[in-house]
Amino acid sequence: MTWTQVLATLVLAAFVTQAAISVTTVYLHRGLAHRAITVTSPVAIVCRSIIWVTTGMKPREWAAVHRKHHAATDTADDPHSPIVHGFWRVQLANAALYRRAARNELTQHKYGKDLTADWLDKVLFDRAFLGLGVGVTAAIGVSMLLGFGPWVGLAAATLHMVSYLMLSGAINAVGHLYGTRPYATSATNLPWVALLTGGVGLHNTHPAAPTSARFSLHKGEFDPGWLIIRTLAFFRLATIRHHEVKFKRAAA
Ligand SMILES: [Zn+2]
Ligand SMILES: [Zn+2]
Repeated sequence: MTWTQVLATLVLAAFVTQAAISVTTVYLHRGLAHRAITVTSPVAIVCRSIIWVTTGMKPREWAAVHRKHHAATDTADDPHSPIVHGFWRVQLANAALYRRAARNELTQHKYGKDLTADWLDKVLFDRAFLGLGVGVTAAIGVSMLLGFGPWVGLAAATLHMVSYLMLSGAINAVGHLYGTRPYATSATNLPWVALLTGGVGLHNTHPAAPTSARFSLHKGEFDPGWLIIRTLAFFRLATIRHHEVKFKRAAA
């Protein structure tokens, strides 16, 4: 690989990871799991397609596992608590812990009753390996189209997977142990994690006001996900549930 190809791999992987992270925080997290925003049908299809080809995850499963995380944060029932499972297990094997909770039918039954599969899920989006196959093929195609050859696309797809898994792990592991706690929740705020994860690094503030579409509630905080939501709302592609912040937990 030449230095140009290495650079192209890094840029392509960063782009794909940030696209996946943005859809995770805006659509899966704030939209489906917390109903803090509602997006139009075309936006939902675009989001579902991006999640399908970049992660292979099922949105309804993600939302149910996440609601369980909120309901049982840092207790034995939390699907991915570093207090219960240890820092390194959550940081490195977050996906395995997620899969275990997602496969448990009780999780979906208790936390995802309102989220059912439609015909598109049955035909397309529930087929994880097909989605990932389409994603890898698309990465190779784009890389060849740009003149970097197939290996850059394949390397970028691999690097994206590792980055997405490590950033998701960091939210659940680092974001429950290190950082500030302005509110009485066990998670933590870390600005550098927030910057890399579409705002989810403001992980202490979020459970204090879970239906707030905006996570950056203090001066100096930046929530990239909120910027995307504001842009979608400006073009009438998304509706924000409420603009005033409704706190569930008090300041610490
Ligand atoms: Zn949440
Ligand atoms: Zn958390």
